Amino acid sequence: MTGTGKFFVGGNWKCNGTTESIKKLVGELNDGKFEESVEVVVAPPFLYIGQVIGSLTDRIAVSAQNSWVGKGGAFTGEISADQLVDAGVKWVIQGHSERRHVIGESNETIGKKSAYALSKGLGVIACVGEKLEERESNRTTDVVFEQLQAYADAISDWSNVVIAYEPVWAIGTGKVASPEQAQEVHAAIRSWLGDKISPDLASATRIIYGGSVNGANCAELAKKEDIDGFLVGGASLKGPEFVTICNAVI
Ligand code: PGA
Repeated sequence: MTGTGKFFVGGNWKCNGTTESIKKLVGELNDGKFEESVEVVVAPPFLYIGQVIGSLTDRIAVSAQNSWVGKGGAFTGEISADQLVDAGVKWVIQGHSERRHVIGESNETIGKKSAYALSKGLGVIACVGEKLEERESNRTTDVVFEQLQAYADAISDWSNVVIAYEPVWAIGTGKVASPEQAQEVHAAIRSWLGDKISPDLASATRIIYGGSVNGANCAELAKKEDIDGFLVGGASLKGPEFVTICNAVI
C-alpha cells in the first residue's frame, strides 16, 4: 500500500443478479466483518441500486458501473451522474474494458464521463489496461499511459479518483497477473502521475488491481508496495469470498 487512505476494494457485479440473488448477497455482506483499514464499495447493475442502497449496511458504499457524459435529458437508455447522486450512489466505474472493447467507448468519451461525474461529487474508479496482443508486443505502458492521458485531458481535480489497472487478458479469464507483473505496471502508473500531474498526487492516489482476483491469490497481490486495493468481478458475487478479499490487506 502506498496511496493515501484506506485499502480500496470494489466489487463489480457487472450485468449479474436478480432481486433474490442480490438479497442473498447483500445479506452475506451485511454479516461480513471488515477490517477498519479497508474501504469497501460494491457496484450493482443500475436496476438494483435502489434495492442495494435500501438494504446494505452503511459500512459499504455503492457505486454505479457507468454514467452518461453530462446532464440528463433526451438520452434514451442513459443514467446521469446527477441521478446517481440523487439515488445515494457515491462512486462510478469508468473506462472498464468491457465498455471500451465491447461497447466501443473511446478514451475521449471516458474522460468526459469521468470529469462530469467528478463535478457532481461522485468518486471515479478510472480503469486502464492493455489487451494480450498489446502486452505481447511490449506496448503495455504505451497503452496505459495513453488511457491515463485521456483522463488527464478531462480531469483537473484528481482527489476523488482511484485508478484501477485491469489487464484485459486477466479479466474474467482466471488468468491473474502475477504480483510482479501487477506491481511493475502500478509503479509505472505512479511514476507517470508524478511526471505528468504532480509528485504529491503520485504518492496520494490509490492504484488498485483487477483481473481474476480471488480469495486464494489476493493476499500475495496485496503485499506489493504499489497495490492499494482491488477491483473484483466474478469473486465479488460470492459474499464470503469477497469479504476475504477485502481483508487481504492485513
Ligand atoms: P474478474 O473481473 O474479477 O471477474 O476478472 C474484474 C473486473 O472486470 O473488474
